Amino acid sequence: MLQIDSITKTYQGTHAVRDASFRVARGELVCLLGPSGCGKSTLLRIISGLTACDSGTVSIEGVDMTSSPANRRPTAMVFQSHALWSHMNVAQNVGFGLRVRGLPKAEIAAKTAAVLDLVGLSAFAKRLPAELSGGQAQRVALARCLVVEPKVLLMDEPFSALDAHLRKGLREELKALQGRLDLTTIFVTHDQEEAMELADRIVVMQGGQVEQVGPPGALYQNPSTLGVAQFIGAMNTCTSSLRHGAVDWYGVTLRMPLPDGEVALLCRPEDLSIDPNGAAARVARVIDLGPVTKVNLITETGDLLTWTCPRDQAPDLGRVMTLLPRRLHAFRGGALMGLMDVPLPAQAQGATA
Ligand code: ADP
Ligand code: MG
Repeated sequence: MLQIDSITKTYQGTHAVRDASFRVARGELVCLLGPSGCGKSTLLRIISGLTACDSGTVSIEGVDMTSSPANRRPTAMVFQSHALWSHMNVAQNVGFGLRVRGLPKAEIAAKTAAVLDLVGLSAFAKRLPAELSGGQAQRVALARCLVVEPKVLLMDEPFSALDAHLRKGLREELKALQGRLDLTTIFVTHDQEEAMELADRIVVMQGGQVEQVGPPGALYQNPSTLGVAQFIGAMNTCTSSLRHGAVDWYGVTLRMPLPDGEVALLCRPEDLSIDPNGAAARVARVIDLGPVTKVNLITETGDLLTWTCPRDQAPDLGRVMTLLPRRLHAFRGGALMGLMDVPLPAQAQGATA
């Protein structure tokens, strides 16, 4: 449905977007995820035609749209601040795009009513934007986009100004609606939980570049860069030197069949387990999160380790535990070198480091 090829955009010589490429299939919901300033909005505006790119192409259904103005593209955009017209009521706001297109009055009324029904706001048609809650206003903004039947719906952090509870509810509503309408959607967010819940696939951006594209689970399990590993989910990061197939991990020597040199060893909090050959660490804080318990520990090397465990296994404060990673991601120069399941301590195999 949508193809983005080598899009680049600079502002005063600095890259806002650099050589970004990805594709979106019909009916797919793709999230652009990354920290603030990484180029998400710029890329979305380039797709919509609101911003021109320096190079690269945007194609929709195989048609090159790179030089088409925004109003010629089959896209519609929902912004973070809903930008409704304050003097128009809800129905007038929603019908605006159809009036601009010169549709007959009866058709505008019918389409507006149908879309308001879709977003659950039929009873609010006569209200002014000032009489709506934040969540309702964003639903109107969405309805205003849906009514023009875009081929691609673009959403730029549409829920980030709303409170967490409302955000979750709207997220679920959007996902259901998007699936029902089979609507190709690009959703921009800096919130990885939001992206994980919504997306069929996530495009992770950093510093204007696409770092990795994949389904949420795949990005979490197999991050291909250090940036993605540290941005999606929590990671314990230990930087160490690898020599002759062995590496120090918080005072424990682990066997690691990789070339010599500096490595960043990353382990998810849930991938640590208690093992007599593990690294010793003292429990500094126990945080009951409800479904799981998060435990902060200080290793003998003075580093912070985070472990998550079932509630009934939560240790007492001050206890010294020995922990081993069951899964380690090794990175060098930001790139993945290897993924080790159950890396063994050298002494457990009788090897010497
Ligand atoms: P994000 O949406 O991921 O927070 P943006 O796409 O808004 O990031 O911005 C990416 C980079 O481009 C930032 O460094 C930002 O300051 C810069 N930028 C965005 N728009 C403009 C503009 N109109 N003029 C100059 N710099 C801009
Ligand atoms: Mg933005």
